[in-house]
Amino acid sequence: MDYEGIVYRPPSEAGSFIIQVIIGCAHNRCTFCDMYKKKKFRMRSMEEIYADLKEAREVYGHVDRIFLADGDALVLPMDKLRGILLKIKSLFPECSRISSYAASGDVLAKSQDNMSELKTLGLKMLYMGVESGSDEILKKIKKGADSRQIIEAGKKIRNSGIKLSTTFISGIGGKKNWEQNAVESAKVINSMKPDYVGLLTLMVEDGTELSKDVESGKFELLNPREVMLETRELIKDIDIDNCIFRSNHASNYVALGGTLSQDRQKLLDIIDKILKGNYGYKSEEFRML
Ligand code: SF4
Repeated sequence: MDYEGIVYRPPSEAGSFIIQVIIGCAHNRCTFCDMYKKKKFRMRSMEEIYADLKEAREVYGHVDRIFLADGDALVLPMDKLRGILLKIKSLFPECSRISSYAASGDVLAKSQDNMSELKTLGLKMLYMGVESGSDEILKKIKKGADSRQIIEAGKKIRNSGIKLSTTFISGIGGKKNWEQNAVESAKVINSMKPDYVGLLTLMVEDGTELSKDVESGKFELLNPREVMLETRELIKDIDIDNCIFRSNHASNYVALGGTLSQDRQKLLDIIDKILKGNYGYKSEEFRML
């Protein structure tokens, strides 16, 4: 298997076989992200992908889950995605879940029937980095989509029966827009009703546009207490059922988890104790992406 550069995957794909079907991220413009800055985007040829799949079949006895990397595999046209999923089905009949990252624009470029077909062919989970529900913040971070498009894409994924896992970033609006980040993100979550919400905390990566704004003072980072206040506001406003909420990523100052909205009050009580100073925050040196 020839992996190109650093390969990223969601934490829940730790045990999955990872195959790069594209290299890099087609968008690659978000101001806070440096994951694929060193990679020039390209779609791998079907020959390269099939050769990796065949090799994996020879090496691994049992493959339960497969993750299609890199940044947004759904950018591939339907004929390629169909070919890859069919090849996986024939080589790995035991595979119970295929998943990938998905940018909202790529989902919107596919029809509802296309998405349903992908589900039938084995695509069971899509991870969408929403980051924020605020249009002002989405524009500033150059996400390449607004909240309306994100909601539409999320609904399309859910209507196809594919599980939707979303990530949001606390602190992505800075001191100026933390309240807006929380309130508008909750609105997006309530509209698209994802199966999972992961809340990361902003980390500033060297060399990104965001890091320059932090250095110049244009962007002010939240302190841990402000992150908690923002998280409280977000959780308070989320009003959906059976959504698994996790804020236990290495970037978070405090680990939180539960099912929303059922566990909302429990989570708010924990946050209130934290805000009263009854728990400590993770120190900066232990935070990472
Ligand atoms: S955050 Fe996602 S869409 Fe934005 S540049 Fe990074 S990988 Fe690409």
